[in-house]
Amino acid sequence: MAKTGISFCDNPEPEFYKMAGIGTPDPIRDFEPDAKNPHHKPSALRRLASTAVTHIIDIVTPPVCLHCHEPMTAHDTLCPTCWSSIDFIRPPLCERLGIPLPYDVGTETISAKAAANPPNYARARAVARYDGVMRHMIHDLKFHDRHDARKLFGRWMCETGRHLIADADIVVPVPLHRLKLLRRRFNQSALLAAEVARSANLPHAPLVLVRTRTTTPQVGLTRIQRQQNVSGAFTVPSKSRSVIQCRRVLLIDDVITTGATISAATKALLEAGATSVDVLSLGLVTDTAASIGL
Ligand SMILES: [Zn+2]
Repeated sequence: MAKTGISFCDNPEPEFYKMAGIGTPDPIRDFEPDAKNPHHKPSALRRLASTAVTHIIDIVTPPVCLHCHEPMTAHDTLCPTCWSSIDFIRPPLCERLGIPLPYDVGTETISAKAAANPPNYARARAVARYDGVMRHMIHDLKFHDRHDARKLFGRWMCETGRHLIADADIVVPVPLHRLKLLRRRFNQSALLAAEVARSANLPHAPLVLVRTRTTTPQVGLTRIQRQQNVSGAFTVPSKSRSVIQCRRVLLIDDVITTGATISAATKALLEAGATSVDVLSLGLVTDTAASIGL
């Protein structure tokens, strides 16, 4: 029997959708109808057309869980089992680093790690811890050309980063070096950035930030070695600087592992004239963050 998807928010407020620029949920486009929402009044003709299109799509490509492929009643979602195994990052959070805090003190809180080693970006937020189902799904996106979850990823990122989106002028992905881009054929961060920009109705600038050299994997390096590995690896070419000058940039990455990469990218954006940089990612390696003071 097909399973019904569940929502990230139990009762999302209409104001959230306005802030995120993704519109009030649509019973066809989104996986969870909100029949009680008074703001949602699609026309009868539109409902009929959407229902017909949905039935055709369901016949051609029956909806399945994006991770385990269990039959579902809607596209672009996960079954309850896979959904419940994702460790979504929720408040209380460090205002700067976005890492979970052990308790809520009722005000905006800066973690001891952020106070001791302040990041050059303003705020970072991530959807979930980088483990389990989330890790597998991001691996599928990066290494197995599985792009079918990008809409769900985009919705998650818009919900998680709604306050960052509200303050942003432009969306910029962390770039790959051109040699890696040739091998992989796509930049997974740019795919995510495109989804966020489209949903939030913000400009997307996938080419403004450039990775000038290849970097070795950060795994196994010390904190200082990680910083040295990516130091100077990014730049904004002079011809592109006008795109981000005096703009508040929302930098998109797929996974925040050590913080060194997004710090190096932020440095290049600020040097090129960006007013501020916030960072939004899908996954966060919290163990690494705890051990190195991300
Ligand atoms: Zn599943």
